[in-house]
Amino acid sequence: MAKTFKKLVTITAPSGAGKSSITHYLLKHFPILDFSVSATTRPQRGTEKDGKDYYFLSLPDFLEKISSGLFLEYEMVYPGKYYGTLKSEIDRIWDAGKVPILDIDVKGAMKVREIFNDHALYVFIAPPSLDELKKRLIKRGTETLENVETRLEKANYELSFQNHFDKTIINKDLEKACKQTARMVKAFLEK
Ligand code: 5GP
Repeated sequence: MAKTFKKLVTITAPSGAGKSSITHYLLKHFPILDFSVSATTRPQRGTEKDGKDYYFLSLPDFLEKISSGLFLEYEMVYPGKYYGTLKSEIDRIWDAGKVPILDIDVKGAMKVREIFNDHALYVFIAPPSLDELKKRLIKRGTETLENVETRLEKANYELSFQNHFDKTIINKDLEKACKQTARMVKAFLEK
């Protein structure tokens, strides 16, 4: 890990709140940003690519990396499923002269804040309501009904942490939410 603190952006949102669309928008509009690929033990979904969407690791590999101190932060985001940001991923992006953008959960973002403080921007994307979130998750069709329920419970918990972030963006209209987030990111990058 580099000694000097460099900039970093974290985007946090309950699953289905539109975080991926907003992150893609930011990556397209700010070439200086680079997506921090997390490691996870959850199974790969249909179109996902190893090394691009996630580094898909077996549980023993993930645990080995934890004990070797290779993670900047990691969490068991869902029961039995680990997700974490590798220090090497952040260094790779900084070494390329870019700013990492992390798509991580509430606890992970809090951990990042303990380390980086105001060298990072912390954005929370909220759905207009839990009902709307449920509809989106069902429509997306990537989760079983049981997983939808787990994700809703987690979303409810995560929403209670919104005011720990620099800004909450309510994603009612995706285009507006993208533009609003972009304005914040622009101000942060120019700081
Ligand atoms: P999904 O399984 O839908 O891809 O992601 C589930 C959740 O894990 C999302 O809320 C996402 O932000 C979170 N997540 C993804 N990568 C990381 C990570 O590296 N660290 C933490 N703490 N959470 C992550």
